[in-house]
Amino acid sequence: MNIRYTSADGRMTLAIEGETQKDLFREIAEFQSVFELYQSCGCCHSTNIRFIVRTPDKYIYYSLRCSDCTAEFKFGQLTEGGGLYPKFKDDEDNILPNGGWSVYRGKGASAPSPAHRQAAAGPGNRASSPASRATTGHMGGGPPPHAPVDDEMPPF
Ligand SMILES: [Zn+2]
Repeated sequence: MNIRYTSADGRMTLAIEGETQKDLFREIAEFQSVFELYQSCGCCHSTNIRFIVRTPDKYIYYSLRCSDCTAEFKFGQLTEGGGLYPKFKDDEDNILPNGGWSVYRGKGASAPSPAHRQAAAGPGNRASSPASRATTGHMGGGPPPHAPVDDEMPPF
């Protein structure tokens, strides 16, 4: 069997060959799991998303990136066959928020630690004035203030 398949957004057409329906099914499933996974950003819902390949070091990273809010969705790479798979979970097997989309904040970046911030404030805090005490109020832990939080599940 030889069929022609057009992606949901109409941008891509591919010829698929297979002996059986199972073959065709698998081919379409593999295509959809990468190329039809998202039509919009999981953080800001913009449809302005692109395929991105980066090589910051010796590894190659494949991802979708939102041109509006810079959020990225990463694909894992199968060790054999050159296939990609969508990453809905982190390395500890926790479901990622925003369907796996997140804004990259630099290496090892997370919420800035309050302890570090206070140490950086310098030696001027003996005889603290009421004003400075007010500004060093409660900046506890918790998620970064501008992390979009959205409990939407991945589409399957
Ligand atoms: Zn976005």
